[in-house]
Parts: sequence; structure tokens; C-alpha cells
Amino acid sequence: MRRIAIAGAGLAGLTAAQELRRLGYEGEISLVGAERHLPYRRPPLSKEFLLDHDADVGLPGTGELGVTWLLGHAATGLDLAGRRLHRGALEPVTFDGLVIATGARARTLPGTGGLPGVVTLRGLDDARALRAVLGARPRVVIAGAGFIGSELAATLRGLDLRVTLVEPGRAPLRRPLGERLGAVIADLHRAHGVDLRLGRRVVSAAGAGRVERVHLDDGTVLPADLLVVALGAEPETGWLRGTGLRLDDGVVVDRHGLAAPGVAAAGDVARRPSVLLGGQLVRVEHYSDAAGQGTHAARSLLGAAAPAGPVPSFWCDLYGHRLRSVGVTGTGCRPRLIHLEPDGRFLAEYHRDGRVVGAVTAGFVRHLATYRHLLADEHA
Ligand SMILES: Cc1cc2nc3c(=O)[nH]c(=O)nc-3n(C[C@H](O)[C@H](O)[C@H](O)COP(=O)(O)OP(=O)(O)OC[C@H]3O[C@@H](n4cnc5c(N)ncnc54)[C@H](O)[C@@H]3O)c2cc1C
Repeated sequence: MRRIAIAGAGLAGLTAAQELRRLGYEGEISLVGAERHLPYRRPPLSKEFLLDHDADVGLPGTGELGVTWLLGHAATGLDLAGRRLHRGALEPVTFDGLVIATGARARTLPGTGGLPGVVTLRGLDDARALRAVLGARPRVVIAGAGFIGSELAATLRGLDLRVTLVEPGRAPLRRPLGERLGAVIADLHRAHGVDLRLGRRVVSAAGAGRVERVHLDDGTVLPADLLVVALGAEPETGWLRGTGLRLDDGVVVDRHGLAAPGVAAAGDVARRPSVLLGGQLVRVEHYSDAAGQGTHAARSLLGAAAPAGPVPSFWCDLYGHRLRSVGVTGTGCRPRLIHLEPDGRFLAEYHRDGRVVGAVTAGFVRHLATYRHLLADEHA
């Protein structure tokens, strides 16, 4: 291979490029990125970045890779047979090998679009815009109590802002944690002054020139200066429609991370067979996973040994508690609570077909190492 193109200059794209160089690949690498920014870390955007104007989110190692950065223009199409990546009216990028790493985009909420003060949080520009308005001490409504909605609520309570968190499900973080631990997180939000509305949906937002009111599905009207829509993300696959690649809630790849010969996909955009779930396809939207998949994709492209992708894991910061996971948790798994302390620390394991497939903790980090070893062995 002499020319490798990487679509998506985020974490997975960068780690793929780094691994290619680490393996001694000396050919061309072109990194095509829709954003103007060099790759950066997204996790701080819902946490310290909103509190600290000096927070640095840059990812190290971008300067010494010897790659061509083609930033500020999205890949708009792919000619698989002709090995060309299109970028609108710009010169296409030709390749022998391709890594698709275009991530995911924040879901929007029909009925709220276009109204100033209604925002999503996915990228650096979103976070900068959000941080710029926090000084005016807005009353904030957050739609969705998943990872980003919950973390954002915790961060904004740290600024003593009024926060209403509206969640359609029965508990925050119910999908990744299960109902019982979701209830623990609900208590944590309430104890820190969040107005938590469970089992309710935001249906629309209204105001004269910008958001002033947020309407819920039970007729409740919440006064608001800011509505953050945090209803999850969708894989960035629109540009790949009609290319012949299998698209099904992401780019479907095999256990080597390959979507077609010479074409890998990695990170939030990829859906791959889970070793821990007996080959069931999963799409994981977590930092360590995206990095691990980028490495895995690079190895597969070069034919280097890469037997299994990374064991999934996440972390999430809430009110001074750091939640950490390993393996598969949540929907489809049976949670078993091992410890639950009055101060909010906990340890839970997750079972599927009579086997442990994952664990989550806040505060029992050493126990997590045991699960990590166990699952890594199964994963190998
Ligand atoms: C606010 C926030 C907080 C998070 N916090 C945590 C956390 O605490 N813990 C955790 O484990 N995970 C966290 N995550 C998730 C983690 O950051 C992601 O899983 C990770 O960034 C995914 O990396 P990626 O490279 O696959 O995608 P991305 O980081 O999304 O990078 C993809 C890049 O591709 C670009 N792109 C999209 N379409 C195109 C196109 N057509 N052509 C070219 N480029 C394109 C995008 O603009 C983007 O720059 C968080 C995510 C967010 C948004």
C-alpha cells in the first residue's frame, strides 16, 4: 500500500495514522476532516472545558506524523472501485487503503430546530459557543439524561446554574447502567439541586427571537434561556449511501475492522461483532474504544496481527464521582449489584447467558482491574 486516506480527523482517525507510522508504514497518509481543527479530545467538552477558559483539548502527536491534513471540508462521497474519496468540488483523494472514521453527529429535536438558544454538544465549536453564554447565568433545560446530558447537568450545577434535566426513560443512564443504578444516579442529580423530570419528553421550544419556554409532553411549560438537546448521536454515514458498503446503524465491519477489502472503519461510526456478545453487532461511542479501534483498523489494513478489537470501556464524571466500566453493560445484560455505599460508591457486574460480560464502578477501581483481566482473556 502506498496511499492511505483517512476520512475523519478525530480520535479514531488520528490513532489509525499513528499506528500506521508506528508499524513502519512510510507511504502517503491523507487525513480528511470536516472540521477546521486538528484532532482534539471531546470528553472535556462536557466537563472542565466549560469551566476553564484555559483548558487544552488538543491531542498530542499531530505534528510529527508526516501526514497531509485536508481540514475544513467533509468527504462527500466514495468511489470504492475507483479508489477515490470525493470532497465536493475539490480534488478527490485517491487511495489504496481507506479508514472511515467520521464519528457521529448529535441528534436534534424536531420542533426546536433553528431557534437561537437551542443547542447540541458534540464538537469544539459547540462547546465554545455554550461556554460563551454561561456567564449570563441562563436557566438551562437539558433534554436527555444520558452520558452527555448527565455530565452537563453536573458541570452546570458546579456553576450554580438552574438546571432542569428531562429524561423520557425511567432513570438517567438507564441504558448503559440498568434501572437500579440509574436510580442511584437520579438521587445524585437531585441531591445536587437538579430539577429532574423522568418519564417526560421535550416536544418543542418557543420564544420571541430566542428560546424562552420549553414544552414537555404532559403540557408542562418550563421557563428557559437555553435548551441543550442531548438525545444521543447518529453515525456519520450519510456520505457513504449508495457506495455498496453495508450501512446499518453505522458502517458494518468484520472482526478485523474491515468493511471491504482495503477499507476499514473505526470509532463511533463503526458497528462491529462483539466477541463478548457472541458476535452480535455493536456500535460503541466511547473514547478508549475509538482509540483502540483506530489502532486495530491500521493493523488490519497493513495485514499485521490484530485478532480482536478493544474490550469496550467508558468513564463518566458526575459530581466528583468517576464512573468507569469495562466490557459490555446495560441493555440486554442482567445487572448484579455487588456494592452500594451510602456515599454513592458502587460496583455492579453485568451478566449475559450466565457469564459476566461487563462491570461498572464508582469508587471500587481496584475491583475493576480484576474484571478487565477476566474479560481481556475471553476477548483474546
Ligand atoms: C461532549 C462529549 C463528551 C464525551 N465524554 C466522554 C467520556 O467522558 N468518556 C468516554 O469514554 N467517551 C466520551 N465521549 C465519547 C468520545 O469522545 C467519542 O467516542 C470519540 O470522540 C469518538 O471518536 P471518533 O474519532 O470515532 O469520532 P469523532 O471524535 O466524532 O471524530 C470524527 C471526526 O470526523 C469528522 N467528520 C464527520 N463527517 C465527516 C466527513 N464526511 N468527512 C470528513 N470528516 C468528517 C467529524 O467532524 C469529526 O471531527 C464524549 C463525547 C462527547 C461529544
